[in-house]
Amino acid sequence: MLRKRIKEEMAAVQEAGLQRQITDLTFTDAVQARDRDGKTYLVFSSNNYLGLTFHPEVRAAAAKAVQEAGSGSTGARLTTGGIAEATLLEQELAAFKQTEAALLFNTGYMTNVGVLYGLARPGDLIFSDALNHASIIDGCRISKAKVVVYAHNDMEDLEAKLKKYVPEAEGARFIVTDGVFSMDGDICKLPELVRLKEQYHCLLMVDDAHAVGVLGENGAGTAEYWHLEGKADLQVGTLSKSLASVGGYVAASEEIIRYLRNTSRPFIFSTFLSPGDVAAARAALRVLRTEGGRYLRRLRENTQYIRQALTEAGLPVLPGETPIIPVMAGEAAKATALDFLLREQGILLSAIRPPTVAPGASRLRLTVTASHTSEQLTYAAKTVTAVWRSCR
Ligand SMILES: *Cc1c(COP(=O)(O)O)cnc(C)c1O
Repeated sequence: MLRKRIKEEMAAVQEAGLQRQITDLTFTDAVQARDRDGKTYLVFSSNNYLGLTFHPEVRAAAAKAVQEAGSGSTGARLTTGGIAEATLLEQELAAFKQTEAALLFNTGYMTNVGVLYGLARPGDLIFSDALNHASIIDGCRISKAKVVVYAHNDMEDLEAKLKKYVPEAEGARFIVTDGVFSMDGDICKLPELVRLKEQYHCLLMVDDAHAVGVLGENGAGTAEYWHLEGKADLQVGTLSKSLASVGGYVAASEEIIRYLRNTSRPFIFSTFLSPGDVAAARAALRVLRTEGGRYLRRLRENTQYIRQALTEAGLPVLPGETPIIPVMAGEAAKATALDFLLREQGILLSAIRPPTVAPGASRLRLTVTASHTSEQLTYAAKTVTAVWRSCR
């Protein structure tokens, strides 16, 4: 039965040209990598927005931690005890996000699952943006709360749904949104969300995975971008994007964090991050807080340069201001073909296809970092444009 199902599903995937494959890469700096055959690529598909994975202080901190505290944490934090640096990192994250407290999880994915599963339950209501990250969707599902999906970034639709569902709701109510949406690269409308969450007495949760190290004067994320610090009840983030490591966190009130520490199963029942992971993230956060201005300026210049170059060349770039740059290809086959040709030219980006996006909304997705040089950006813009034109 299972084998038959798998066979049929995989045949359909193959037929549609949607088979997924892993390319094993070794990075040689923040934006260049080689595959197992030794072919080298310029990478426009990482989330390494500030390029800090190769920052000397970040690498040294990780190496030192592994040298001094071992390669693994050997257990969950509540049982084996922890890593001294973890609590420090939580305090630093809370300060950076201007909240009372923070709690680390092993990934951003586990954070969303752990927070939603930890806080929401049957009888509660979760209002969730249609383009929220898969980990939010999964956290909603596992919580068994009632989920009301509103149209992407559509505040009228959200308000209509709040009006409809809130009066008959007995339990807690949440509004959940990405800060920067991972596939379209647009930004949530925090001022409206704050107004609605106050009017309808909901908790507001913002996932800043793509916003920290990207948005705001100091790179503190969505709240800083909108000058609405302290207005979201829960701010989720990851250590795996701008913070150059792996792991996730939620920043919130002491009351909520204490509750999650006592109840959130993904926190309680999984071995914690390694000393190297925690040290790397701490060092990256330190770099962001002390010399972030330089990196953020560079990231913004690079983003603007490539957005403008591709747009002026007539490519269908989704407008916006974040370093997530979608170029709409339409059919999956076209995105796949473009991706293949660009790889041949040594440019690695992501062909995003269903089921990650809706059918007909396949795209090339470029992500820019502060580490790309102007020569690399010029080469990328020229090559993407030429390949795009050759594919019409
Ligand atoms: C990447 C991402 C996550 C998951 O973070 P990981 O640390 O990679 O597990 C969660 N939410 C959003 C919006 C993301 O883009």
